[in-house]
Amino acid sequence: MRLIAALASVTCALATPAFAQGWAVFTSERFGFSMFMPPGMRWEARDIGDGWGGLRARKGVMDVGALVKVGAAGSAQELEALAVATTRIPAANWTMTDQGAGRRGWDWWRTYKAQKDEGRVLFVTLGTGGRGSYIFFMETGQAEFTAHYALYEQWYQSLTLRPPSAGGRVVFQVAPPSDARFAALQPVLGDQRLSALAEAISRLLVLPRDLPVRVEECGTVNAFYDPRAPRVVLCYELAEFFREMHSRKQGVDAARAPDYVLHAMIFTLLHELGHAIIGELDLGVTGGEEDAVDDFAGLALLEGGQAGLLLDGAEAMLDMGALSRGQLPFHDEHSFSAQRFYNLLCLGYGRQPQELQILVDRGQLPRQRAVRCADEYRKKRKAWEAMTVAHARR
Ligand SMILES: [Zn+2]
Repeated sequence: MRLIAALASVTCALATPAFAQGWAVFTSERFGFSMFMPPGMRWEARDIGDGWGGLRARKGVMDVGALVKVGAAGSAQELEALAVATTRIPAANWTMTDQGAGRRGWDWWRTYKAQKDEGRVLFVTLGTGGRGSYIFFMETGQAEFTAHYALYEQWYQSLTLRPPSAGGRVVFQVAPPSDARFAALQPVLGDQRLSALAEAISRLLVLPRDLPVRVEECGTVNAFYDPRAPRVVLCYELAEFFREMHSRKQGVDAARAPDYVLHAMIFTLLHELGHAIIGELDLGVTGGEEDAVDDFAGLALLEGGQAGLLLDGAEAMLDMGALSRGQLPFHDEHSFSAQRFYNLLCLGYGRQPQELQILVDRGQLPRQRAVRCADEYRKKRKAWEAMTVAHARR
């Protein structure tokens, strides 16, 4: 929207009754809506289950509530049924007073009025848009409503839905496989831990554009970030490769295969998200991007107390070494040298030396390297924090 036109819609409201009485625009970033609120009105959070959450505020005779289900576009019937259940006012007692579509962030909306006992009147506006499904309640005294009709009308006109705040979103999708070999992998790759990790990126960083992350069949063992689309792709073939590698190893618990595959794919996802963050934010990197994004994956896991998962990830990177000695491609450049494996072990040891002392005792991490790991860990964490701080969502 042009700047002056956008400003005009704000400045023209300054002369209205709401502003005259000290009302101000309240915005919920979390739920994606805004409305006028009287001065001193305080919101309380509420959670009614089934994905619905919201806010409620009361002052004097006025009682305002919002129920929001983020990410779900409910039908009019569903939203009306929930409004009836919440207010315990039967549908027959409601009168529709307004409806519309395509304004103030609403895909569509309907507004109903119901008379309550003791001279109180209730308005409900429901619909979809912004971040999902919305039901707004506003209850007040009938006499108050009649006396200050213009104020209430302006409150109603101020109900605005907002899409997620500036910046691209990461959306995680799992395409169903057509190859029967991959059917058992679909629930592993559909695990919420993968989607939660991917989608957290756009809550933490302001990305310049949307970044889809897809699990799909590729026809090759691969995982990659494609800066042209942009997109991150995790291939079913790669997950199948990790499953097969696990089944060939001596002395491993076959029942752990789904966990191993999930852990290997979580590490791979973080590695690719590291590439995507560097690419999307156009960050400078020293010391080689492959090592930098391994560090990102390792730091993300270790800061969350996931040393065990990191060790599975490091082992999976060693599995990839077997792959690159064959002629199969894995994104653009890699050689999965033992060096990368040791870098990850060192990162883990640097964060949790007591828990991972066994790596040194078994000779998996050379002692002369181990003494430097704590310092390496600290420097690498500092470097990633410094690289991304300017892009952090505030
Ligand atoms: Zn890479």
